[in-house]
Amino acid sequence: MSDSASSAFHVAIVGGGPAGLMAAETLAAAGLRVDVFDAMPSVGRKFLLAGRGGLNITHSEPLAAFAGRYGDRRPQIEPMLAAFGPDALRAWVEGLGVSTFVGSSGRVFPAEMKAAPLLRAWLARLREAGVHFHPRHRWTGWAADGSLQFTTPAGPITHRADATLLALGGGSWAKLGSDGAWVPLLAAAGLAVAPLQPANCGFVVASPRGEAPTGWSQHLASRFAGQPLKSITLRLADDSAPARPGEAMLSADGLEGSLVYALSATIRERIARDGHATLRVDLAPGRSLERVQAEVAHPRGARSLASHLQSRVGIAGVKMALLRECLDAAALPAPARLAAAIKALPVTLVAPRPIDEAISTAGGLRFEELDEHLMVRSHPGLFCAGEMLDWEAPTGGYLLTACFASGRWAAQGVLAWRAGCGREDTY
Ligand SMILES: Cc1cc2nc3c(=O)[nH]c(=O)nc-3n(C[C@H](O)[C@H](O)[C@H](O)COP(=O)(O)OP(=O)(O)OC[C@H]3O[C@@H](n4cnc5c(N)ncnc54)[C@H](O)[C@@H]3O)c2cc1C
Repeated sequence: MSDSASSAFHVAIVGGGPAGLMAAETLAAAGLRVDVFDAMPSVGRKFLLAGRGGLNITHSEPLAAFAGRYGDRRPQIEPMLAAFGPDALRAWVEGLGVSTFVGSSGRVFPAEMKAAPLLRAWLARLREAGVHFHPRHRWTGWAADGSLQFTTPAGPITHRADATLLALGGGSWAKLGSDGAWVPLLAAAGLAVAPLQPANCGFVVASPRGEAPTGWSQHLASRFAGQPLKSITLRLADDSAPARPGEAMLSADGLEGSLVYALSATIRERIARDGHATLRVDLAPGRSLERVQAEVAHPRGARSLASHLQSRVGIAGVKMALLRECLDAAALPAPARLAAAIKALPVTLVAPRPIDEAISTAGGLRFEELDEHLMVRSHPGLFCAGEMLDWEAPTGGYLLTACFASGRWAAQGVLAWRAGCGREDTY
């Protein structure tokens, strides 16, 4: 399969997620021939999954705060956001006929909260713009002459393009296509890739009861796994950062949910450094320690401790079960110890859950390998975008926004490179 007969500058995009599709749109709009290859039978599968729990497309906070969410990678991501940030993204979504709204948390969602209507309209527009799609084409590396190699249902093929843009995603939810199998391919081409690690993920707890090295007691796991811990705050025990309010969830062997995801980069780094990370959970954030102490010490008469805590401090259900799990029995009747535990329950995490379960991955192709247009310095004509690059961000729409923005940015890099050095300088 070769397009050498065509006179148009020809770009091969490998990976049809948000980053690859945004690149395809930008390049097709500039009149280039665009071929999108994807290993899966259809494109945008992770995007569709992201829409299942309510597609959080971006966030409405001011751009400076928004850019701060990318941590150490802010210098690399910020120019892309300045060119195509949250407002531009919202306008783009609305241009596809899908209205958006800002939720109470400042997060931005499409009207129906789903990705499917958006993806449907987008793919129709891309096809109309002349983008060619090649599903079931798994990229496996480069042939000796530099052309791209794919496995397809019809057997292996090679494909030659004037420029290549890789947007292969991270390494979670492999069954949706982004399996990280590209890491050794880029490493074999001499490119530095930071190991992929789970981000925005759940963690396994060190067994508070000591029944096993890790995980909750059978009682807690069987009765409370999957239940939300609402209205709590979390902070790392030895961290000066203020406690974060929100919601977490008890999993079968630890904790997950938005509050845990928000702290996941720090927790992961702490576990890598110390072998564990201790969280302090405030189960009654609306009340001061003194007030909780006074409430707990209030005479409870014939009432059980559980009904006493429920009526005086609002601790019940999964919160009460967690308290019992993490506190030794001797502390329960001691008001000062009980109140201290309610306000700062220690929960020690020892490992992230497997990468395949994570919402996103940290690590990826290092920015040092790329120029300011996201072109690989050592391979002129090869560009990369999206989650496969070495950045991470919390949930809140920051992941998708940077994927869209980097796809567009890399595509503009292709255009600049083509204008600067002509089509004969092919990779
Ligand atoms: C459950 C879940 C919920 C999420 N919710 C949100 C959310 O609400 N908001 C948000 O901002 N983010 C969310 N995300 C994250 C977001 O979906 C991803 O960050 C985003 O899809 C990454 O875009 P991408 O284009 O870089 O890669 P991907 O979307 O992963 O696309 C990569 C594509 O490359 C293809 N590919 C990979 N290897 C090859 C190969 N060798 N050959 C050919 N094709 C290949 C894959 O098949 C895939 O189609 C969520 C993720 C998950 C898992």
